[in-house]
Amino acid sequence: MTDFKHFRVLRLTDNLIGFYDGRGEGVAYGTDNWVNAGALSLGICSYALVDEGEALVYDTHVSPAHGEMIRRTLHKMHVSKITVVLSHWHLDHVAGTCAFDDCEIIANRLTLQALEKNKAAIETGTLHGPPAIHPLVLPTRIYEDQLTLHVGSLEVQLRHVAAHSRDGTVLYLPDEALLLAGDTLEDTVSWVAEPDTIPEQLEALDRMWGWEIEKVYPNHGDPMIIEGTGYRKTLIRANQQYLRSLQRATREEDIATLPLKEFIAGPLQAGWVNYYEPYERVHAENLARVKMAVVR
Ligand SMILES: [Zn+2]
Repeated sequence: MTDFKHFRVLRLTDNLIGFYDGRGEGVAYGTDNWVNAGALSLGICSYALVDEGEALVYDTHVSPAHGEMIRRTLHKMHVSKITVVLSHWHLDHVAGTCAFDDCEIIANRLTLQALEKNKAAIETGTLHGPPAIHPLVLPTRIYEDQLTLHVGSLEVQLRHVAAHSRDGTVLYLPDEALLLAGDTLEDTVSWVAEPDTIPEQLEALDRMWGWEIEKVYPNHGDPMIIEGTGYRKTLIRANQQYLRSLQRATREEDIATLPLKEFIAGPLQAGWVNYYEPYERVHAENLARVKMAVVR
């Protein structure tokens, strides 16, 4: 488990804070459990929107201790009201929710369903292995397609985007054209959890492309870019091209065997995404998973 040596609080805009852990310089995280393999080795960032003594926490991070760290940080900033929104049901996004068990916790109906269905296995550490998340605190309020909230003077829209997982919730701030993308977008490449629905995911990302977007903040990405300018809208195109290339790779062996840097050469050269070596493992698993989905 993390020792918080590489946990950092990032001040991103006047109202946006990032809580980044993992991907430390010269640190080798194992792939021995879901925290290391799925989150810390790649880097993971939760966010909080803060205004006028209120905060919206977007994902509760990889452990209860992380959730408490987020809460302490917000307390120091004189936040007195916290609302939690879960981007989707995957463990690295919900493990710290117990630190917010007295707050309103909002998620898509599909997120609640997935968490309820897997609750026993998550709490015993048998779904993806240890560490167990105990207690798993469930959402207290659900929405379907879209929900508008106010955090102080900020308008925040929760939008259901079925990319990466069918239960995805992104946050869109219309006044700043800012998108908190959860795992619907990822740098270096998307982790393909649901290979059967790639066509639907591509459509969902196409709809997202139609939004006015200035800055994008994914939950897994390069801390330098997150802390710098944020990502550009072209991160959507990069993720779409990657998913399409995965589809082609099931039919064309010479594409399947390309090194990752060549597999995503276009988006890399355009500067839409950045190469990070631990994504080699993610890419290899994606290829296998997408191939299996075709064979089935
Ligand atoms: Zn994730």
